[in-house]
Amino acid sequence: MAKIAVLRGDGVGPEVVREAMKVLKSAGGRFGVPLEFEEGLVGGIAIDMRGAPLPPETRDLCGRSDAILFGAVGGPKWDSLPVDRRPERGLLSLRKELQLYANLRPVTLFPPLIDASPLKREIVEGVDLLVLRELTGGLYFGEPKGIRPAPDGRGEQGVDTMIYTTPEIERIARIGFEIAAQRRKRLTSVDKVNVLASSQLWRRVVTEVAKEFPQIELEHMLVDNCSMQLIREPRRFDVVLTENTFGDILSDEAAMLAGSIGMLPSASLGDGTALYEPIHGSAPDIAGQDKANPLATILSAAMLLRHSLRHELAAASIEAAVGQVLAEGYRTPDIWQPGAGLLVGTRHMGDLVAQHVA
Ligand code: NAD
Repeated sequence: MAKIAVLRGDGVGPEVVREAMKVLKSAGGRFGVPLEFEEGLVGGIAIDMRGAPLPPETRDLCGRSDAILFGAVGGPKWDSLPVDRRPERGLLSLRKELQLYANLRPVTLFPPLIDASPLKREIVEGVDLLVLRELTGGLYFGEPKGIRPAPDGRGEQGVDTMIYTTPEIERIARIGFEIAAQRRKRLTSVDKVNVLASSQLWRRVVTEVAKEFPQIELEHMLVDNCSMQLIREPRRFDVVLTENTFGDILSDEAAMLAGSIGMLPSASLGDGTALYEPIHGSAPDIAGQDKANPLATILSAAMLLRHSLRHELAAASIEAAVGQVLAEGYRTPDIWQPGAGLLVGTRHMGDLVAQHVA
């Protein structure tokens, strides 16, 4: 029996996780994968009910589970809290404590969605890339960090620190090359070597690790150029390896290649229990309205079956079911266009995928 920790979080998190669980149960039944779910509090709801964004019992639950299915955290209600007490800190702490340093964000365009992207067909057709984002280092964790009096006595200064160590870069680079070896054997390492010292080390270490993988073609690219190339010629990319902040931003941009941020799943892998979540946030503007696209979370559940439970067949069947439902024309509002497709809500979309898996 595989135990899955379910952390729904805030905003649309509970809605999209509900649908992913529906699909997981359906795939589990169809392929004989026994699954047990246990819920934990995280984010804003955990602050409200337990006084902290990552209560100890949620930590324990994650530690003794085989995988974590995560929704999203945050929302306007908690926006005035200091950065270190906000809902997002719950997710960051979980990633750090479990040492989930490798965040896989595949960007695949399902062919029926070719016109859902705001970009031209000829640009997005055939897009299939993977952003590998370093997840436990860089600006989000580096010390010193905080707001403090300015040394010249004129107001305050906000400080964040971007730090990367050689072992941190080596381990994520190795994963990048290993993933590229399973794909089209091309890796683009993205940095800001012309300005940042951490990028100079990043580029040097990635170049060194590349020697272990002579079959992989390595290119280096500055992050500003990469943000342009991603929408100019996205098909040139296979694996895009980058640090935490750059990966966060570039993958939201890359979401537009797939039609919507509601289409992009992710897996966070490392030393502890792996975590699976959509790349989007809690989308407070559409929460509770049955409008959120659950496919990113459903595709994250497929990644959970593949990476944590090693059940490729069940994973592939979920991905095929998503493709089929889209091919039949069903669309949530974010991927719907007038005259193209049958508009459905979050719940209906989940039902359809679950039925196609079963
Ligand atoms: P967001 O990703 O929540 O939303 C950005 C836009 O995309 C919104 O217009 C939203 O409606 C839309 N969107 C997002 N998910 C969608 C879905 N599944 N289907 C259809 N449309 C979708 O980003 P934001 O608005 O910048 O942040 C909202 C809150 O989420 C903030 O509190 C932020 O800190 C938090 N956040 C959390 C995570 C996380 O939990 N991993 C990630 C990013 C942002």
